[in-house]
Amino acid sequence: MPTFVRTDKCDGCKGQDKTACMYICPHDLMKLDQDGSETSHAMKAFNQEPEQCWECYSCVKICPQQAIECRHYADVVPMGASVQPLRGTDSIMWTIRFRNGNMKRFKFPIRTTPEGSINPYGSKPAADIAKIGEAGFFTLGGVQKTGNPSELIRK
Ligand code: SF4
Ligand code: SF4
Repeated sequence: MPTFVRTDKCDGCKGQDKTACMYICPHDLMKLDQDGSETSHAMKAFNQEPEQCWECYSCVKICPQQAIECRHYADVVPMGASVQPLRGTDSIMWTIRFRNGNMKRFKFPIRTTPEGSINPYGSKPAADIAKIGEAGFFTLGGVQKTGNPSELIRK
């Protein structure tokens, strides 16, 4: 199921340069229609290519307004059903609304450690970019090779 923005809930991330959904989408699908020329909804985001959506739901989870819904391509959801997540610090509550009006809620844990407690480097030191040309920069053990700056992807 790809994602769609509910224009009644989206606030365009309050006019930020880059909205939360644009920031998080790994496929660069979310776009803010600043002047309304593309969707007739100024300052609302939209999924510009739902058929290309990876359905990762990162945008759904990050949206601070819970404005992004997952909808099926087929006739199920356009006739009134919806799937809406509400992200918490340790779980996501999914609210499923069926076409006949029935509602079901499922709560799934999303982490096993307290929010903000992860140590991304573990026991390893943070990378020192000044050592990019030294052997072993990319790997601390096993097969090592000299770092080659031309292999880096730069923007
Ligand atoms: S993250 Fe949500 S509120 Fe912000 S622009 Fe995207 S859909 Fe709108
Ligand atoms: S579900 Fe994933 S791929 Fe699809 S629009 Fe949202 S962030 Fe992008």
